[in-house]
Amino acid sequence: MNSFDVVIIGSGPGGYVAAIRCAQLGFKTAIIEKYSTLGGTCLNVGCIPSKALLASSHHYSDISHFAEHGIEVTGEVKVNLEKMIARKQAVVDQTCSGVKFLMDKNKITVLEGLGSFVDATHVAVAKADGTSETIEGKNIIIATGSKPSNLPFIKLDKERIITSTEALKLKEVPKHLIIIGGGVIGIELGQVYLRLGAQVSVVEYLDRIIPGMDASLSKELTKVLKKQGMKFYVSHKVKSVERTGDGVVVQAENAKGETITLQGDYSLVSVGRRPYTDGLNADKAGIKITDRGMVEVNDHLQTSVSNIYAIGDVVRGAMLAHKAEEEGTMVAEILAGQKPHIDYNLIPGVVYTWPEVAAVGQTEEQLKAAGVEYKAGSFPFKALGRARAGGDLDGFVKILADAKTDEVLGVHMIGARCADLIAEAVTAMEFKASAEDISRISHAHPTFAEAIKEAALAATDNRALHV
Ligand SMILES: Cc1cc2nc3c(=O)[nH]c(=O)nc-3n(C[C@H](O)[C@H](O)[C@H](O)COP(=O)(O)OP(=O)(O)OC[C@H]3O[C@@H](n4cnc5c(N)ncnc54)[C@H](O)[C@@H]3O)c2cc1C
Repeated sequence: MNSFDVVIIGSGPGGYVAAIRCAQLGFKTAIIEKYSTLGGTCLNVGCIPSKALLASSHHYSDISHFAEHGIEVTGEVKVNLEKMIARKQAVVDQTCSGVKFLMDKNKITVLEGLGSFVDATHVAVAKADGTSETIEGKNIIIATGSKPSNLPFIKLDKERIITSTEALKLKEVPKHLIIIGGGVIGIELGQVYLRLGAQVSVVEYLDRIIPGMDASLSKELTKVLKKQGMKFYVSHKVKSVERTGDGVVVQAENAKGETITLQGDYSLVSVGRRPYTDGLNADKAGIKITDRGMVEVNDHLQTSVSNIYAIGDVVRGAMLAHKAEEEGTMVAEILAGQKPHIDYNLIPGVVYTWPEVAAVGQTEEQLKAAGVEYKAGSFPFKALGRARAGGDLDGFVKILADAKTDEVLGVHMIGARCADLIAEAVTAMEFKASAEDISRISHAHPTFAEAIKEAALAATDNRALHV
């Protein structure tokens, strides 16, 4: 029987990063993946393909701004969806084979098949050809990720009533795409098809979209997306989603108890994701699973069985690729006797719409609820030279700092390139910067990053320079 220091089940960003770090630290490592490509949800049907389609559709939508830049398009500009989806798949394939290259480079054994616990130190790998191999792991890391959730009364036919996975490979641009759930995934994919010409309606149970983020971001994003043509039905509880031939009918109830009926040709159900442990036989190893289906872990990501750890979407916390990666690294280093630490407050959240939305730390709502005295400084992108030069005027940066100590407690931004700009805020907060610290750092001119400096100035005695 093959025996390893560490066996990892699942090859998403949690699992494959854990595998690389384990190998770097000198562990004999194996990774088990049930699909034929490595990379998990993120690379195959998540982060990477959605960003590829966002990029392609962004190019297309930019054409409507060409005229104001003095660029005249005389011929017809058409979307070839088949080609766009094929390009997306090529990006995915290249990225996934990059992970395989990294496994080989780090001498990690890759086993293709469904991994299931035999006991606390043995995992059986059931292969596609019907054979099975059992391997031994001194330590085992569960990194089995998540799958799309559904509402109990919705029958997903994966043709017209679909999840994000199908939305990444549609064969036609919907005429009317009805999105159930105004979270990050629904809004991103909604913007892809909105740009390509679909009518897009979003039905959200709560009173705003991207509800986990600061309310000011949600308000601004709603405003911009409405301007782009997206329709919102917030505070609406979906009662039914039915297929009717080549169409779908969605019924939802508003706060007054009135029912609205929406007719479309596709409905994307994006109501969150659930931790995935199907087929893992966690009970055979004595691993505790919570009522919500997550693998229960302590602060060291150790399960109820001391040599078995769990990371990423299958455990508590934000379902984000970079959170899974940090956890993969952390477990590998714990196994090597190191003392790593993750500050979960400083895991940034990003929505890759345009304008992009990004945040780190505490929201105003959280600070108010905790009774923390804070001050806020905001700066609008439209006051930036760079934003005017490029024509990307929507959005702002908001910095929240402790009223007494001036320590930055949260940074919330919406606007061009915020997905990248947020890294400055994360770095500053990792080093416990005050708003004044950020305000005294030289930021290149003209850049979008100047909005961060200006917001920090605004938070420091309200002394922004350019408003
Ligand atoms: C459309 C979409 C867009 C997203 N965009 C972003 C984004 O922009 N940024 C971001 O940070 N996050 C994004 N996410 C979330 C991100 O994909 C997840 O947070 C991330 O993939 C979690 O990584 P993971 O390693 O925990 O699990 P996963 O990536 O889900 O990987 C788990 C792997 O385990 C395998 N597996 C499961 N059970 C077994 C078993 N028993 N045996 C063998 N293999 C098994 C699965 O096949 C899978 O390959 C997006 C998700 C979606 C759906």
